[in-house]
Amino acid sequence: MKEILYIVLLLLLIGGIYFFGFVAKGLDKKYNTVSIPHPLDQLQEKVPPIPFMADLHCDALLWDRDLLEEADHGHVDLPRMQKANMALQFFSIVSKTPKGINIESNSANSDMNGLLSFGQLLPPKTWFSIKERAVHQCKMMHQYVEASKGRLVFIDTRQELADFVAQREKGSKAVACMLGIEGAHALEGDLANVKLFADLGVRYIGLTHFFDNEWAGSAHGEKKGGLTPIGKELVKEMQKYGIAIDLAHASKQTIDDVFALTDAPVIISHTGVQGVCNNNRNLSDRHLEEIGRRHGLVGIGLWETAVCGKDAKATATNIKYVADRIGVDKVALGSDFDGAIETHFDVTGLPLLVAELQKLGFSREDIDKIMGGNVRDYFLRNLK
Ligand SMILES: [Zn+2]
Repeated sequence: MKEILYIVLLLLLIGGIYFFGFVAKGLDKKYNTVSIPHPLDQLQEKVPPIPFMADLHCDALLWDRDLLEEADHGHVDLPRMQKANMALQFFSIVSKTPKGINIESNSANSDMNGLLSFGQLLPPKTWFSIKERAVHQCKMMHQYVEASKGRLVFIDTRQELADFVAQREKGSKAVACMLGIEGAHALEGDLANVKLFADLGVRYIGLTHFFDNEWAGSAHGEKKGGLTPIGKELVKEMQKYGIAIDLAHASKQTIDDVFALTDAPVIISHTGVQGVCNNNRNLSDRHLEEIGRRHGLVGIGLWETAVCGKDAKATATNIKYVADRIGVDKVALGSDFDGAIETHFDVTGLPLLVAELQKLGFSREDIDKIMGGNVRDYFLRNLK
């Protein structure tokens, strides 16, 4: 009798693992979609190659994919980045996602990433710990770099970035990668974890994601408060390690509190602007102008909620608004590729954005800045 029970339990376990594995793969395909499947077919204009293309935000590490192989779904992997001539891609770490996620109000009480980690058969400690999930994604990035045989290069110092830029100028097709964290809840409330992640190479931290956390209020949280007392400590600790402050998803009060606390050149890794696309997700003119004064950086996204449109033209319009308001040297690409969204296209479609920027009258030099030069120069100025 006992044996039968064990066999049934074992079969249920194996079935469960297969089931969740299947579901985990399915979620990647279901959520990381594109509006334009074969973007280059739509390219009518001749566009110049971009010497140093860079993107401030993608969540590809969240999914059960080998980023060294080309996938038939999702937005980013090494072969597609090389086809697109991408020079530098930030990989952001998503570690906790509320159920029923929306841009208005989310409770911190649910967490879909535990199930996803289980479904992907990640190490069991990642099933229960958000910090371990984030550590795991950092390690995955380093493993990809190691296995890529020089095609992917990890950057975490100014010198490494300068060397990489020189390598690209000599014709290298290698792609640089850098790490960011989306939501400081990944620190599990412990300031000492700033050093842990700094040592793993994380070079920006978004204070919040979709819910209020122990450090700060989110634009999509229940209370939408500001920095907490330990949140203020966190901002100082991040600066000690040269980690940029990312205010994407932060509440208005959090942004104001950060401005009052420090004169750091903050970034918004992926957003749209309320001046073009007015919603709770996006950056107000007042905050935009203050980021300009600090010589920060605003990454404009490639999805509908950010830019109020499903094509490159909508993204280009938001970019132009930022450039006109605070200067063409402070705006960048913040795609949110593989962020469980429909983007206009995958990474290979970026020439469509270049074409739209040309139509808006940007010079060749300004397009180079917007499409990557500004990201390169920001981190050459601000990395340690
Ligand atoms: Zn995001």
